[in-house]
Amino acid sequence: MSKVVKFGGSSLADAKQFKKVADIIRADSERVYVVPSAPGKRFSDDTKVTDLLYQCYERTLTGEDFAKAFQPVRERFDGIIAELGLSLSLEEEYVKIGTDFRNGANRDYAASRGEYLNGIILADYLGYKFVDAAKGIFFDNKGNFDSDITNACLGAILEKTPKAVIPGFYGAMPDGSIKTFSRGGSDFTGSVVAKAAGASLYENWTDVSGFLVADPRIVDKPEGIEVITYSELRELSYMGAGVLHEDAIFPVRSANIPINIKNTNAPDDAGTLIVPSAKNAPAKYLITGIAGKKDFSVISIEKDRMNSEKGFMRRMLQVLENHGIFPEHMPTGIDTVSVVVNSHELDGQREKLAQRLKEVARPDHFEIIDGLALIAVVGRGMKSAKGTATRVFAALSHADINIRMIDQGSSELNIIVGIDEKDFEKAIRVIYDMFILSEQGEK
Ligand code: ADP
Ligand code: ASP
Ligand code: MG
Repeated sequence: MSKVVKFGGSSLADAKQFKKVADIIRADSERVYVVPSAPGKRFSDDTKVTDLLYQCYERTLTGEDFAKAFQPVRERFDGIIAELGLSLSLEEEYVKIGTDFRNGANRDYAASRGEYLNGIILADYLGYKFVDAAKGIFFDNKGNFDSDITNACLGAILEKTPKAVIPGFYGAMPDGSIKTFSRGGSDFTGSVVAKAAGASLYENWTDVSGFLVADPRIVDKPEGIEVITYSELRELSYMGAGVLHEDAIFPVRSANIPINIKNTNAPDDAGTLIVPSAKNAPAKYLITGIAGKKDFSVISIEKDRMNSEKGFMRRMLQVLENHGIFPEHMPTGIDTVSVVVNSHELDGQREKLAQRLKEVARPDHFEIIDGLALIAVVGRGMKSAKGTATRVFAALSHADINIRMIDQGSSELNIIVGIDEKDFEKAIRVIYDMFILSEQGEK
């Protein structure tokens, strides 16, 4: 059986990290397909190679010489090669990238070179074959990931390549040009490779010992999650738990391949196992995790007898769709509807949208309120348990935090609350204390 191992940017930030990665791979002969990110931050105010590449691209657009703009990227890679003592030279690759830039290569191409070059180094260091993701991972004409073609092509390549390094984050368009996934997309590549290889496990190596109940930048030393289901994870990643890209579970989910999140800096820690169903893994706490995001706006519409006006909702949603706006939540009352949207989706079209909605809805009151944060409290354990919502609300009200919106999915897997952005961190901490600290006390 084969395992696919993906290493994030911090796991490959410098030669010292490369050595840890090689030790991990060599410790298990089933770790045969390796998906690297580009080198990440070595210290907190360092710049990720992907960001250096975006900067390089912008600088060349404003007329700067490629060699000069590319220098910071080159230094990172040459530094790693020298420190690892490899005889590899990337000189020809740098020349090719310069030529491609001059021939008008796009921004995604520029960004993808971080994973591409890092993959070449890692393959050389491990003695594995390098497989360019552009040869096996494909998008369709509309720029959507094409899972059928990818599975067939990548599957065929891997079948005849027993050990390979496949760079994360990018693939090819039908015309051969390079396209990247969204930021953090190497997690998705790892999942795609695991599916194409028919792997028994997808190990995702990062800088924390698995998924934690809450973001460690907000809650001090949060408890780790041993087992989490695909559905729980999906809710948490969508709501901003940054460990895994929000789409990364889809390819492996369809093939029933578990994911294990592991820590490159503490490889013996068990990490988090992400499984299709948790039949054999009872939840440890009532809730599995808490995550949240800032920067939401509420479009609030009030109108007497709104509920008796047929097609009202459809017309409103049509206006939003015409403006390319996706409604995240839509709590409704008899005569009110609030649509929660990502604030950035309103950029540049706020006035026009408001005007159009007013024309269509003819509301008694219309308002767009900014500064909303959403927090999701997620857990398979809350399904049959009574009082989960009460405890969330009690925690928030004791902390004097006003709840501006409530939404509970019908799957009873999550409760979402909308609060003022200024209360965001505090809210996560008090919910954590309510469910984890107090239950720890009882255990
Ligand atoms: P990589 O570079 O390995 O892909 P990321 O930076 O994308 O790693 O993801 C790991 C980071 O996610 C952690 O360092 C941590 O700061 C952050 N994070 C946010 N929410 C959580 C959570 N619930 N559990 C663990 N880590 C979290
Ligand atoms: N290097 C890319 C990024 O910084 C992809 C990844 O790390 O997953 O977003
Ligand atoms: Mg990541």
